[in-house]
Amino acid sequence: MVRDPRYDVLFEPVKIGPVTAKNRFYQVPHCNGMGRSYPSSMAEMRRVKAEGGWAVVTTEEVEIHPSGDHSPWMGGRLWEDRDIPVLARMCDAVHEFGALAGCELNHAGVMAANRYSRDMPMAPSHVPVALPDPVQARAMDLSDIRDLRRWHREAALRARDAGFDIVYVYAGHQLSTISHFLSPYRNRRSDAYGGSLENRARLLREVLEDTRDAVGDSCAIALRFSVDELMGDSGISSTAEGRDLVEMLAELPDLWDVNISGWENDSATSRFKPSGYQEDYIRWVKSVTTKPVVGVGRYTSPDAMVSLVNNGVLDFIGAARPSIADPFLPLKVEEGRVEDIRECIGCNVCVSGDNNFVPIRCTQNPTMGEEWRKRWHPERIAPAHADERVLIVGAGPAGLEAARALGQRGYHVTLADRAGELGGRLQTERKLPGLSEWGRAVDHRIWLISQMVNVDTFLESNLTAETIREFGADHVVIATGSKWTSDGIGRENPRGIVIDPAARVLTPNDVMAGQRPNGPVTIFDDDHYYMGGLMAEVLRKDGYEVTLVTPAAYVSEWSLQTLEQQKIQSRLMELGVKLVLSHNLSRIRASEVVLNCGYTGAESQVETDTTLLVTMRAPEEELFQALRTADLGSLTRIGDCLAPGTIAAAIYGGHRFARELGVADLDNVPFRRELPTLAALD
Ligand code: ADP
Ligand code: SF4
Repeated sequence: MVRDPRYDVLFEPVKIGPVTAKNRFYQVPHCNGMGRSYPSSMAEMRRVKAEGGWAVVTTEEVEIHPSGDHSPWMGGRLWEDRDIPVLARMCDAVHEFGALAGCELNHAGVMAANRYSRDMPMAPSHVPVALPDPVQARAMDLSDIRDLRRWHREAALRARDAGFDIVYVYAGHQLSTISHFLSPYRNRRSDAYGGSLENRARLLREVLEDTRDAVGDSCAIALRFSVDELMGDSGISSTAEGRDLVEMLAELPDLWDVNISGWENDSATSRFKPSGYQEDYIRWVKSVTTKPVVGVGRYTSPDAMVSLVNNGVLDFIGAARPSIADPFLPLKVEEGRVEDIRECIGCNVCVSGDNNFVPIRCTQNPTMGEEWRKRWHPERIAPAHADERVLIVGAGPAGLEAARALGQRGYHVTLADRAGELGGRLQTERKLPGLSEWGRAVDHRIWLISQMVNVDTFLESNLTAETIREFGADHVVIATGSKWTSDGIGRENPRGIVIDPAARVLTPNDVMAGQRPNGPVTIFDDDHYYMGGLMAEVLRKDGYEVTLVTPAAYVSEWSLQTLEQQKIQSRLMELGVKLVLSHNLSRIRASEVVLNCGYTGAESQVETDTTLLVTMRAPEEELFQALRTADLGSLTRIGDCLAPGTIAAAIYGGHRFARELGVADLDNVPFRRELPTLAALD
């Protein structure tokens, strides 16, 4: 197939200072939890993006000096020459496909507590660091400023020597010392580096000039700047100082990479913000500079991309998450396969990897982070090991992904589900407030298997052990999912909750099936991800008096990892949901629940008509257990039926099964590891 001519504009080359990008697809810097600790994994992940057609592939944050040490977050490092080979590996990989490699240099200032280096952090003014560590940053004097400029210059030279084509000066997300100098909120100085915008921008201007002087003849200089800190008059705003700054430095960088601050707003999830919501903040940037502009907005539609270019909003379509969900997005547009794009669902599970200091993972793309260590390619997979038939029972995320990947391998696949539509739990959950984009995870797979002649789907097929035996497949895969339980067993109460027979108890499955409380409802969230908060939102919007009790110190605590927690809690508070944090729920009676303080154990009661337990899910494993003794070629359970987890885990489980079918000897440690080279004991 060939590319639709209406997308031609996306494939025009664009000059960035001394280098030229082959098209307008630009992978902006993004964290990945691999960085310096898993360098080959990081390099291979970037290589796959270049192979997938991105014209520019950049690093995550790359630290320039031990005084800006972001440990334990796994960014890159260019502290000394010995750090060069790690990043050179990435540059070589990216260049293999004619893409440009970009390097986001950074000194994190108060955003880092220097937990590894133990240097004293530095800031424009004396202030405790932004992390909860009992560490305070000291105000930089003029010699510190000279040092910082020198470190940045030296790191830029190392970046050039590593092979980078674009070197960044980072003034974004409130994550860099340069941005802290810029911000009226953080900069309390009264010297030439504080006060007026011109003064606060002095360090940025100097570093831009230093970087150009050091590497500008061979590398493009990019400026990453958050035009709005969303703090009104207390910070930079796109209608005032953000615009003034772009006007002031308009022609100094070779490229403007613009967004909004902080990371939780720049990478807002689909639950809270639609694709393209940053446009209102950045659409004027191109009118005040002649330099190319890149911006982001979780763009996955080539039509939206074309209109951004044609309407003069952007020169480059920036992408972090869309390039994670589909590293081959540009090539699919180029080859006229737009329907095959695996669109990001905006869940930020990718961010959770970085926040937990482990390799990135993605709900949509199970190969993300596994390119090197498992040799999983997002588009290629080994052919079937034999001409065999696979029966998959259950067409949720796990069953669908197994069917898709097995179909791609060439097996004869039968996918059966007792429901009237494919998609499993996502068909219900996508109807919850803010989760409609999550449905893409199943829609994408349903579309792909509809194109495969070797994959048959059967709906309203309630399979039993007997029908499965009769079917006679070589391999049977049970992907029957899970259900929320109503006995209260969970993290906090491993032996359950005492429930009086007269008490009314509901689960999320009941609520999603349309059941409602008769009066005031208490939700007990011992799960800590999205479901408890969403149940509170649904019921409160339906007019119920809602009390949400959780043993955690925050509502939907795990959503801290996806940068959503603050938004969830504030939404529930605004809706009038009563929050009882750090409390267990130990007993449910007909008209009240008994709570215990998580610290003192002190008992209290809340009057309630109905209790909604969001505690745990039980695998739907009866079918699997009934088949255990049957004479089948192979029997495997995957996804929530094996152990309930995230949708990302279910898709990964389905994919892993498909990859490993027919592999004779699975290693004890099923992935490659990169071990440190021991230093000499001198
Ligand atoms: P996962 O997240 O692991 O993919 P889901 O709960 O989303 O799990 O999907 C499980 C699917 O399995 C549901 O669509 C359900 O209708 C289906 N299912 C469960 N038991 C059977 C059965 N005996 N026969 C056919 N389909 C089943
Ligand atoms: Fe998008 Fe979610 Fe994948 Fe991140 S994890 S890239 S938000 S689909």
